[in-house]
Amino acid sequence: MATNNDPSLLVQPGRRSFLGAGASLLLVSALGGWSRSGSAATPSLAPPPYGESALDPVISARTIGFHYGKHHKGYVDNLNKLIANTEFADLPLDKIVAATAGKADKVAIFNNAAQTWNHSFYWNSLRPDGGGAPPAALKQAIEASFGSLDALKKELATAAMTQFGSGWAWLVGEGGTLKVVKTANADTPLTQGLKPLLTIDVWEHAYYLDYQNRRADYVNAVIDKLLNWGFAADNLAR
Ligand code: MN
Repeated sequence: MATNNDPSLLVQPGRRSFLGAGASLLLVSALGGWSRSGSAATPSLAPPPYGESALDPVISARTIGFHYGKHHKGYVDNLNKLIANTEFADLPLDKIVAATAGKADKVAIFNNAAQTWNHSFYWNSLRPDGGGAPPAALKQAIEASFGSLDALKKELATAAMTQFGSGWAWLVGEGGTLKVVKTANADTPLTQGLKPLLTIDVWEHAYYLDYQNRRADYVNAVIDKLLNWGFAADNLAR
């Protein structure tokens, strides 16, 4: 579908309603054909900006169905239960993540809020017919920081492969440079003074149905065929 190539569609309604929204956003379900709708609870479960089978065969419709419909939805539902009638109830999602990071008595809220945020960011980090060449400004920044696009891809793959257990590999901005980091479980660069540009989910639920234990095959296929460099470029420019 042509709209998949339009970065404004990739980053606008779904992303906003996920990442920064307050209480009153309605879900936009038209973009990717997901049929979920319902009350405008905060935070909401905005759908990936493409259809369930759009990333096939790199990521199957079955994986997306479970990943979005069960795992991601589980985080959103848990979060909404946890924050009901608390000081977090009306905060935008990124503020909930920031306000609970590192607080021993808020671990459950942090985990579910950060996982909600991370997953939305992940859906937008991928696109059908992704990979390829980044937009010029991002490409320049990549070459300045890593030497070449290939060097970045290698470093990203290594981070994704060497994250022990569940977690995430990220391309981030820090000051004027770009770097690759990995985080465990729900941890997110959002609370580490870094600007997230794109991410790869390396929790087993992200790939096990399609790749079983072959995380490297999943990671390399995502990097080569699905990464949404336009989303990373937009994040870098903001
Ligand atoms: Mn996941």
